[in-house]
Formats: sequence, structure tokens, C-alpha cells
Amino acid sequence: METLSAFSLTQEDWHKLLLSEGESPHLLPFWLDGLYKDKKIWNKHVSPKLIERLKGKLDFSLPEISHVQESLDGTVKFLMRFKDQMEVETVLIPFHKRFTVCLSTQVGCGMKCSFCYTGTQGLKRNLTSGEITGQYMVATKWLKQKNAKAINPNIVFMGQGEPLHNLTEVSRAINVFNAPQLLGLGQRQMTLSTVGYLPGIKALKNFPHTNLALSLHSPFEDERKLLIPVNERFPLSEVMKELDILTNQKKRIITYEYLLIKNLNMSDKHIEGLYELLEKRKAIINLIPFNPFPGSPWERPDEDEIKVFKEKLVAKRLRVLVRTTKGSDILAACGQLKVNKLARQNGTN
Ligand code: SF4
Repeated sequence: METLSAFSLTQEDWHKLLLSEGESPHLLPFWLDGLYKDKKIWNKHVSPKLIERLKGKLDFSLPEISHVQESLDGTVKFLMRFKDQMEVETVLIPFHKRFTVCLSTQVGCGMKCSFCYTGTQGLKRNLTSGEITGQYMVATKWLKQKNAKAINPNIVFMGQGEPLHNLTEVSRAINVFNAPQLLGLGQRQMTLSTVGYLPGIKALKNFPHTNLALSLHSPFEDERKLLIPVNERFPLSEVMKELDILTNQKKRIITYEYLLIKNLNMSDKHIEGLYELLEKRKAIINLIPFNPFPGSPWERPDEDEIKVFKEKLVAKRLRVLVRTTKGSDILAACGQLKVNKLARQNGTN
């Protein structure tokens, strides 16, 4: 059986484990500070025998960086390798004075969205919570080696995989990120993005709180199915019903991500459709110009088309943002992630 990662344990798990090892609860803060901040703390407060015993029970290793690419705009794309040699991409994105880490939650993805490079790869396996927190820790360490004053990055679950298709492990990882004595990120510093995986959305009622984003991309069921095949099983109308329950319960605003694809979803009919769908809801529309990838069937609109589409939505009094594309020169932008060894070896990815 695979050894459990130390970085998948919540604060409560550590509390119970130390007690079961016959240790005082007062040891917990020193143990956690040593694990997450500075191992030197252990020299003073933790017995070497306890460290040895726990090393025999848990896996303290982190993913390895097998490849790094830095974009001209400061975006950094890592290829992270796990113990079974499977790899995912993790991206550090500069935003004003801090960074955001885009984390993967699965190796590949089974959702097959037609605008997404990862979708062409298929689902290989779910990541464990330790592998999800591990990506964050490795990317943050890399960042701090470059700039010791860098602030801990925020998180978006928008890398490879559908986070709600791996609910148990993602939920556990969020608990680790959120615990003040573990990684200490606030709930508002984490954003979970879904394509509308309905069983996962229903389960969000009992899920640790984060910001939530839905990949919308079209207000029309038939067109959305073309872009997001899972819309066939989980129609937008059902997804919206569940999101309404969630916003009423948890008083949150949902971000609706809208890919801008030339000659596809940018007509006046789409403006009307978005208005009908969102005018009465607490919504922010995040417009994302499509990022082409090798073999993609769609095209990116030009800057004027993007501006006009945004202005038409604003004129309808909808709240709209346009996401700046980052890292497209290294295929690290939204929808462009895919572990592609051949392209890497050829220097094309
Ligand atoms: S967009 Fe997200 S859910 Fe869709 S195929 Fe890509 S990684 Fe999977």
C-alpha cells in the first residue's frame, strides 16, 4: 500500500497523530512550524526518535521539478514529476505585486473540452491531496529562492483536471492550504474552477469555502455542448439551479468564465443570452480571449472585437473583466496545458 503523504494531513490529523505517539499537544505548533517553515525548529523542540518514527509512517517527499520554462511576461511553467513518474504542469502567474499558482488536480482530464489542450490527453489518474499541496510548496520554494521577499502566492485550481471530479482529495488539500498553522491561505485567496460537474457542485454545500468560477463559454445549451461535452450529461440549466442554491446559502458571487472565440460565441445573440442568464444573478463575467494550441479548431478574436464585446456587456450593466493572457509563448496560458514530452524534446513546448 502506498505511504500517505505528510503534506496531506490536516491540522486535526497531526494533533491526533502526535497524541497517539504519546507526545504532548504543546508540541504541535513546533512540529508544524518545522514541517512548513523551517526544519531547524525541530532540532530544538522535537526528539530525533519521533522524527524517525514518523518518517517510517509517512512520506515526506515533494514532487520533483523535471522541467521549467519562463515566459517573457514573467509566467513560469513547471513540469512536476511524482513518485510513479507521472507528470503535471503547474504555473506561477505574476499579477501586480504577487503571484498566483495555477494547480493541477488530475493527471490529464476526462472532460474533453474542445478548447483545451489537456482535454486531448484523457484522464490518467487523480492526484492525491499531498500531490496537490506539494505542487504549491515546490512552486513557492522556487519563487522564494529567486526572491526571498516574495509573498506566498494565491491559488487557482485551473490547471490540468476538473477539480470537482476529484472532490475528496481537493477538499482535503483545501483544508491543508486553509489551516493557519499549515499553509495559512485565506479562503478568498483560493479559486476553484469547474466546467459544471454537477455531482461535485451539489457536494459543495459541505465543502471548505473558496471563490468559485464556472466555465460558461456559451449561454446556449447546444453550443455549450460543442465546447464542453459534459454539458450533455449535466445541462447548464441544472448547473445554474445548483449554483443558485449555493449562492443563496453561502452568499457568494460566482465568476463566469467566458472564452472569446472568433466567429463562434461573440455575436449580439450571445450578448442577449448572457444578459438573460446573468442579469438577476450575483455574477462577474471574466472574458478570456482564446489561446490557440497546436491543432486547435478555434481562433482568437482581435483586440477590437474583444473591446466591442466587452462594451456591449457593460452597456447591459453586467459586471465584466477581461483576463490578460499570460504565458502564451510557453503554452502556459488557460487551456494550453498538456504534458507533451515530444514537443519539449524538440524545443517547441
Ligand atoms: S478545460 Fe478543464 S475540465 Fe475541460 S478538458 Fe481542460 S482541464 Fe479538463
